[in-house]
Amino acid sequence: MGRANRYLFLLLIPLGYIISCSSAKVHYEYPPDWKSDSARNATITKYSEFLRGKKIFLDPGHGGEDRHNKGNFELVVEADINLKVGLYLREYLTQAGAEVIMSRDKDATVPLKLRSELANTSGADVFISIHHNAPGKKEDDYTNYTSTYYHALETDFEHEPSNRDIARYIQRDLAYVMDNPGGLGSFDGTYSDYNIYPKAGFSVLRLTTIPAVLVEGSFFTNKYEEQRLSLDEFNKIQAWGIFRGLAKYYKAGYPEITPLYDESISFIKDKAVLEYSLKDKAGINKKSISVYIDSVDNDFHFNPVTSTLTLDLTKLKPGEYSVRIICANISGNHSLPFFRKVRII
Ligand SMILES: [Zn+2]
Repeated sequence: MGRANRYLFLLLIPLGYIISCSSAKVHYEYPPDWKSDSARNATITKYSEFLRGKKIFLDPGHGGEDRHNKGNFELVVEADINLKVGLYLREYLTQAGAEVIMSRDKDATVPLKLRSELANTSGADVFISIHHNAPGKKEDDYTNYTSTYYHALETDFEHEPSNRDIARYIQRDLAYVMDNPGGLGSFDGTYSDYNIYPKAGFSVLRLTTIPAVLVEGSFFTNKYEEQRLSLDEFNKIQAWGIFRGLAKYYKAGYPEITPLYDESISFIKDKAVLEYSLKDKAGINKKSISVYIDSVDNDFHFNPVTSTLTLDLTKLKPGEYSVRIICANISGNHSLPFFRKVRII
């Protein structure tokens, strides 16, 4: 084949392939609450009650010098679709009255560590890192699912159950609008980041101290998925799934824990009895309460009538201790990370 013809041939093979695939296989539907301006506006208005005033930190993965992850047909660069989904999500959240902060809102290099530092100092309520996935084997153009990651294993002390709650809500609605499964490694499509990096997890989840999840929208390496991901309209639907999941999470709410003592004081050993108010609009699940003093399980008393938790620390030696409390409401949503230093003299 002549040089020009050979190039033409090389061009035509993937083109023909895409066209034949796109007519037969590329498919997605418009979510009924998104497909018209009026339906979308009504949904956003409905959820604004729960999102108004919330600060959401969005982290579109990669970008700038890091544009290496590409689909097999080069229809998409992962960095770009992460950004597009992030920008559309910002629109929906902002319209609902939330404040959105982004680690990047254009094609820019942002080191991993900096993404967490920006989130930790932003005063945001939640960190959502947006990514798309690729399989371990380069030749695998079949695997495709939607997954959402939280940090550590549920059995680890550093695991925060509220991260998994947020992951579950986002995962359910995102996978639903994309009509994707959640993968075979998990029953609900949420995964510990230890599945990928044992005992370390993802840097952005490990180093971020505010509630944090990482979304892997789907596999840009799947030959059909790559085509959907290259369409702005589909990226908007993805953003809608994340938006709706997060909105439903805030709608379900979570318990708030408040110390009922002056946090600036030191307790005299014999009087170190501490009280905390556990408040939730749906009600506290008494069986869900755990209390740790310096990571050791500790006894407590809970009064369901006043929703007050009492800790008797009179047996502890003088010193400084870290009190950690976890509880869930009757919808199963857990309190956000709660740690307090207590001084006993
Ligand atoms: Zn990525």
